This record gives sequence, C-alpha cells and structure tokens, in this order.
Amino acid sequence: MKNIKIDCHADTIEFALDNNYSLDNRKLSFNLVDVEEKLPYIQFLACFIHDKYINRGYKRTKEILNYYFREEQKFREDIVRINRKSDIYKVINENKLGTLLTIENGLALDGKEDNIYNLYKQGIRLITITWNGDNQLGAGNQAIYDFGLTSFGKKCINIMNEINMIIDVSHSSPKTFWDILSISNKPIIASHSNVYSLCNNRRNITDIQIKEIAKTGGLIGVTYCSKFLTNKKEATIKDIVRHIEYIGDLVGIEYICVGSDFDGVDKKELPENLKGVKDINKLEECMLIRGFSKENIQDIMGKNLFNFINNNLE
Ligand SMILES: [Zn+2]
Repeated sequence: MKNIKIDCHADTIEFALDNNYSLDNRKLSFNLVDVEEKLPYIQFLACFIHDKYINRGYKRTKEILNYYFREEQKFREDIVRINRKSDIYKVINENKLGTLLTIENGLALDGKEDNIYNLYKQGIRLITITWNGDNQLGAGNQAIYDFGLTSFGKKCINIMNEINMIIDVSHSSPKTFWDILSISNKPIIASHSNVYSLCNNRRNITDIQIKEIAKTGGLIGVTYCSKFLTNKKEATIKDIVRHIEYIGDLVGIEYICVGSDFDGVDKKELPENLKGVKDINKLEECMLIRGFSKENIQDIMGKNLFNFINNNLE
C-alpha cells in the first residue's frame, strides 16, 4: 500500500472562520497549498467549541460547518471527505487530501442526544467529550470538582458506540476518562495528548491511562504544543520524539499517531522548524536520526491511524 500521512487533530476551520481566511491561506499552519507536496494525506478537522458557547454550542458548530462546506465546495477538485472507511482508499488511489470532521467539546450537543445523530448526518465522525472546563457530558481537565461523566454523558458514550462515532478523551478530567473507559466497548482515541511522566501538565495522560487506551485497541496522538512537551520554556522536535519513544517503550509503536493541534495553538508555541504541515518531514527526519525504522515512522505518521479508521468507521 502507498504511504499515507494522517493527522488526527487540527483546529484550522474554526481559526480560519474567525480570521476570515480561506483554507488555501498560507498563514494557516495547516493549509491546502503546503499540504500538496505531502499527499496522500488525511487531516482531521475539528469544529472547536470554546467553553464560553454554553447552550449555544450547536449553533456555533453549524457556523463552523457551514464555513467548512463552502470551502469544501470551492476546493472540491482537491478534497475527499472521509464519511466511511471506503473513502480512505479514494484518498490513496487518487492521491488526494482527505478531511475527517470532528467536534472538540461535547458542549456542541447543547445537552441533546438527538444532536449526536444530527451531527453524524452532517459528517462528524469523532467527538472530543470535553474541552478544559465542564460541560453537560462531564468534567474537563481543569475541573475544580472532578465529578466524571454525567448521566447524559454516559448516554452519549453508548450512542457513540452504537453508531461508530469515535470517542476522544483528550481534555477529559481523570474521572471522566475512567468513566468513559468503563462504559465504552470500542477503541478510544486521545487525539492530542502527551505523556504526563515527561511533562507534568493536566492535559497530558499518565502511564496507566496510556496502557488502558492501548488495551482498547486505541491510539494516542502525540501533540506539538510546547507546554505539553516540556516543563522547560521552549520545546524542540526532539521533545516530540522523546514522547513517541516513551509511548513506544510502554505499549508499542502500533498505538501511536500524531495530533498536531495546528491552528489550535499559536505558532509561537510550536517547536522551531515545525510551524505547520510544510515541516512535518523534519519530525520524520528526527525520528530517523533517533534510530526509528522507515516502517515505524510510516506507522506513526499515518498507517496506524489508517488501520484505526479502517477498523472503526462504517
Ligand atoms: Zn484541544
């Protein structure tokens, strides 16, 4: 099979909407011009819903989706949306850009189960259960009192399992994480989280959490934001590789992918030489120098996530 690169988290469409950029604007870390030389490539594109949109989450999601659909129409020659697993083969065979739509923050549902089905119909295939704060589904990583999943949150997990909507535990509080793991019967993703043992930030996940995600057959998307990579002031690409090596040693290379968080973090917070999709070869080069095989690098940069989509979407 041809080599494919896949990135399981970027906030590009929300950021582009707010800045009135088109998706081919090279000010975006992820953009249609820079990705051209990386094809075939799949980018998960999150409708990021800030916690301030409480009770307006669904409306905000529609705004972001409408922006995306206009852009998709404009660039319809270039983009293949991933709605079902067969679409990933189209991306590979036609050397295209695939997009997979996600929601970052269950606040998007406005507390209504029906909205999971509505969003699925509109192409959403993954939901990050919380952002930093609490929402109707559960407690986020900055929770003052960690109550875990609510009864509504538990219902949502069951529905998502039923309809093959991927569950993402990045940003979850510890108890929300464990509640999800105890209810869900499908593989789980942490789309953009690093190793807590290497960088003590509440957004990162502990060794035991990493092991439990692996046990579900899930994936950990290593992320590029400096404050989740190191407790020092600035991170380098080597720090990303350090997190990859750690997870590889702990559970195995087959449980690792990348979730850049492009356009969700300021460029200043990204390592030098890795400011966008144009630079991802630098990460591959760094892994090669550190002794990773070409095959392992391909697994981390795309193949593992390809297998995940193939196994978990309709
Ligand atoms: Zn995030």
